[in-house]
Amino acid sequence: MLYRCRNCTHEEARGVLPTASCGMLLFAQMGLVIGMLIPAIRYLRTLAGESLGTNASVAVDMGWWVLLVVPLSAVVVIAATIFGTLALNTLLELLEWVAYSFRRCPKCGRRCWAWGFTRGFGL
Ligand SMILES: [Zn+2]
Repeated sequence: MLYRCRNCTHEEARGVLPTASCGMLLFAQMGLVIGMLIPAIRYLRTLAGESLGTNASVAVDMGWWVLLVVPLSAVVVIAATIFGTLALNTLLELLEWVAYSFRRCPKCGRRCWAWGFTRGFGL
C-alpha cells in the first residue's frame, strides 16, 4: 500500500498489499471468509439441532416458516460475508501499517505515517 508521512507528505509504496485497489484480492479475501463461515454455520446448525432435541443430520421440517427463514438467513450470510471481508482487509492493513509505521521518514526523519491507502484500480 501507499503510505504518506503526515509531517512532510512524502509518499512511499511499502508492504505486500497492492498499491491499487485490487478486485482479485478482495474476492480471495471473500472466499477465505466464506471458508471460515461454513464451519461456523454448521456449528450453529448443530447447536440449533441440539436445542430442538433432534439429530443435526436430520433436516428439521419448518413448514411455511421456511419462506421467512431462508431469505432472512441469506441476508444474514451476505452481511456476515461483507462484514467479515472488511474486517479481514482491515486486519491485514493494520498488520502492514504496524510493520511499517515505526520506521523513520527518509525526508524529515519523523515517525508519523498515515494509514495506508491505494490509488486507482487494478485486477
Ligand atoms: Zn516526512
